[in-house]
Amino acid sequence: MTKIGLEIHCQLTNLESKLFCSCKANYREFEPNENICPVCAGMPGSLPRLNQEAVKKATMIAMALNCSTPEKIAFFRKNYFYPDLPKNFQITQLNIYGDTSVGGSGTISVGDKKIRITRIQLEEDPGRLIYEGSSSKNQITLVDYNRAGTPLVEIVTEPDFETPKEVRDFLNILSDLLKNLGVADPSLEGAMRADANVSTRGGNKVEIKNIGSFHDLEKAAHFEITRQESLHDRDIPIVQETRHWDDRRKITVSSRSKEEDLDYRYFLEGDIPWVKINPEIRTELKSKMPESISSKKERYVSKYQIPEQVADVLSSDKFYSDLFEEAHTESNAKEVANIITTELMGLEDTREKREASKLSATHLKDLSDAIQTGKVSRNSSKNALHEILKTGKSVSQIISELDLGNVSDESELLTIIDKIISDESQAVEQAKSNPQTINFLVGKVMQATKGKADPTLTLNLLKKQIGI
Ligand SMILES: [Zn+2]
Repeated sequence: MTKIGLEIHCQLTNLESKLFCSCKANYREFEPNENICPVCAGMPGSLPRLNQEAVKKATMIAMALNCSTPEKIAFFRKNYFYPDLPKNFQITQLNIYGDTSVGGSGTISVGDKKIRITRIQLEEDPGRLIYEGSSSKNQITLVDYNRAGTPLVEIVTEPDFETPKEVRDFLNILSDLLKNLGVADPSLEGAMRADANVSTRGGNKVEIKNIGSFHDLEKAAHFEITRQESLHDRDIPIVQETRHWDDRRKITVSSRSKEEDLDYRYFLEGDIPWVKINPEIRTELKSKMPESISSKKERYVSKYQIPEQVADVLSSDKFYSDLFEEAHTESNAKEVANIITTELMGLEDTREKREASKLSATHLKDLSDAIQTGKVSRNSSKNALHEILKTGKSVSQIISELDLGNVSDESELLTIIDKIISDESQAVEQAKSNPQTINFLVGKVMQATKGKADPTLTLNLLKKQIGI
């Protein structure tokens, strides 16, 4: 049997400042080593000051994952030397004096299965090492401390996963949950990293470190299972070890050294006092928790009769569900949901496209109203949507400029219909004996008007002219 456990590192990307100083949490826009101060650069004598907002956000994650949250939390020093760690220790959390991490003993449902969350801890991210040079002779390593001290939440699971697919499903759910909470944007480069523990057929546990994306996490688990299975088949024992994920070759490789918890010489961080999470704070955070994805989905189905699958897609994505909330009314909810899930999501499938888009909630509302009142056909509304994204012009302006409006002028439609009736005499005879086949003629009218004929009017006029 395969057992996989995960340790997921998630940056709290929506915070203003770093975990222990006022440097920007969003380090991505800076030139190297420009987003640093004595605290995050580890200068002697500098003192950390805890970002309260980070504690609140981390506690909200713990609550959303059904964890228990302690009354007091503590921080510890994890000592190790590495060039990306300017203080030579990382300030993190540990449960050695009771449960003092921000959260513990949670669960999250993945399909029919419950995945247990061991603990959630708040810690600082180290800096980044950048390797340059093409051969071993001229290789250089650059250090950028802009990221050092960025707030990071580590989510540790029990080894409850049995397949890489379960891992992927869990990551999708977790990623949607973090976005829905408004605490992180997992799509940002480096915002989500993970380690995985994999054991097969009761053999030794192998830890895979350094997996830089959710996409690779599934691949890494898959590779490691296959590697271990092949060793089992040849009766070669699995060595308990740490392996690294080689991002380029998409394989796991053995690391030379083995790190044990003991080597880190953990001790209490004396520069940060224990932090009380008062019942009032907890009540406040609970009241700030956004509607969960599952209850949002239920509401879309029961209140607006949106099909289950559409509601599922819509509720899972915070960006689009926010847009839906703003654009919909009692009467157009289904139409708005339909435009978002069938058209918009495809047109804005990357962050760049989403940022470049000039679409607003008003556009969506107006467009769905135009479809419902027969001003524009569903087919033509797709062209209108393309144009809105590009130009941001109003729906009515686009419909008139691109001549996308439905042909609802009776005499204009009659001219077209009469011509089709004379061209398609066989189909007309068929429609007389079997009225259902009239759809073929409706289709012909649509073709002739490039999909712009008002469908209801077309059908009524056709019936009248044929005499059925
Ligand atoms: Zn700083």
